[in-house]
Amino acid sequence: MEETIRVAVIGAGGRMGREVVRMVMEDEALKLVAAVSPSAAGVDAGLLAGKPNAGVIVSATLEQALNGAQADVLVDFTVPAAAYSNTRTSIEYGVRPIIGTTGFTPEQIVELDKLCQDRGIGGLIAPNFSIGAILMMKFAAEASKYMPHVEIIEYHGDQKLDAPSGTSIKTAELIAQAREELRQGNPNEEETIEGARGAYYNGFRIHSVRLPGVFAQQEVVFGGYGQTLKLRHDSYDRAGYMPGVNVAVKKVMNYTGLIYGFEHIMD
Ligand code: NAP
Repeated sequence: MEETIRVAVIGAGGRMGREVVRMVMEDEALKLVAAVSPSAAGVDAGLLAGKPNAGVIVSATLEQALNGAQADVLVDFTVPAAAYSNTRTSIEYGVRPIIGTTGFTPEQIVELDKLCQDRGIGGLIAPNFSIGAILMMKFAAEASKYMPHVEIIEYHGDQKLDAPSGTSIKTAELIAQAREELRQGNPNEEETIEGARGAYYNGFRIHSVRLPGVFAQQEVVFGGYGQTLKLRHDSYDRAGYMPGVNVAVKKVMNYTGLIYGFEHIMD
């Protein structure tokens, strides 16, 4: 029988972190051994996820949480300002980092990969853990080889700070790598209201819709002679990221080095 994977969660009191605590507690192959959330320090971690006693008291700092916990994996859904140092600390303790927080520079990723290699452990930084969203990106890149005229429309809640979304930028990058460069539309096109045509990226446009009531959706629309093709992904809930996090926690036990992007460990 496979050994139980011992999991620590940082950001455990946050919206994503609570889902991670619940997911870990509900999977018999995983064991919650530590949790960090400065504002919830001292409470039982199960309370954060609406579960009964987890037997793990929430710590205020990562070091306190990892001391003596013998964690195999750390899952981080915190804030960009904290995620880099959390990842370094995790590697120093020999704990495999699974990072959902965004904001790492390419140089930091190279450095953290080296630290993982030196320590002989795996790690993952994944800007998107949603399996459906990853598939949408893969399919969009594939379709753009055959239908290169494309626009992206992404929809998020009205309180989102950044636009366009990270997922739409990643989709655009994959399309730009897959298709020939192409300046779309009429070269004499003019906007009578500024911004009407959306953000310009490598010859095509990204449109960001921000409305209350929306969680996260994206459409990639391809146009060809007498036809359009639409790829659409809808996220309704943070729980939708958990199957991806669960796969990552298990797969990271079996490789060395830091991987960037969930798509690289999906198969
Ligand atoms: P949130 O509800 O605001 O939770 C953030 C958590 O981070 C809180 O528990 C907070 O703890 C903790 N935190 C903040 N600063 C910290 C620090 N210096 N050290 C330790 N913990 C700290 O945010 P969320 O909605 O869960 O999102 C968390 C992150 O995940 C964001 O960066 C978001 O963009 C990302 N995200 C990624 C994916 C993906 O698929 N990769 C999907 C959704 C979201 P306290 O409350 O105790 O202060």
